Amino acid sequence: MKNKQTLRITTIFAAIVFAHSCATKPNILPKNDYGLTEIRSIKTYRSTTVLDSNQKMVNITHLNPHIILDLHYASINNFMRQEMYPAKTDFSFLRLPVAKALDQVQENLEQKGLGLKIFDAYRPYAVTKKFWELVHDDRYVANPAKGSGHNRGITVDLTIIDLKTKQELDMGTGFDNFTDSAHQSFTALSETILANRTLLKETMIRFGFKPLETEWWHYSWPNPERFEILNLSFEKLKKATQ
Ligand SMILES: [Zn+2]
Repeated sequence: MKNKQTLRITTIFAAIVFAHSCATKPNILPKNDYGLTEIRSIKTYRSTTVLDSNQKMVNITHLNPHIILDLHYASINNFMRQEMYPAKTDFSFLRLPVAKALDQVQENLEQKGLGLKIFDAYRPYAVTKKFWELVHDDRYVANPAKGSGHNRGITVDLTIIDLKTKQELDMGTGFDNFTDSAHQSFTALSETILANRTLLKETMIRFGFKPLETEWWHYSWPNPERFEILNLSFEKLKKATQ
């Protein structure tokens, strides 16, 4: 009798533990050579979105077609002088809460006759590894041992444009400029440039983004550890998000 009761209690306890572990960690996510969790298949990616819709990658222009994309890495117009993404890729992704916040930034700027232009958003982890093979210097590219917010779909490189002329506001330097003049704290710039940078920074912060000191164009969503590194091609993600 006692044994039966113990068995029943043990069984109930085991069932609770099992149910709890199912609810919180349904997957054993794959780790790469650096010990980082790296999602390499759409199936695994989908399994992470089932329990947490914030993990969903959103096609930015589907969410807000007014946001302009000019992905420099999909052309040779970048510091590498190489196409790092498939040529002429004109779509990109961010995680759901990040994309929603960017949509709010766009709406806010539109009230001032302005809008956003995105230089880069999601970056497949394979591209980060390629950057590292070519440059091998973490002053300029992300070390794959750490990965980047771009790999996690929570970081965006962007500027402000005038909606009428479609011209970029003067930010003092171009995107991916590695001099001190691209730093947030660099103030030896004209009043107009400083005001433009401040407008971008204040608007992005207002909707939840965090700036990066060394790059005026680079903004991230907080708590990167909540979002795993993705190694999914643009095409695969495009199909998965249709
Ligand atoms: Zn960036």
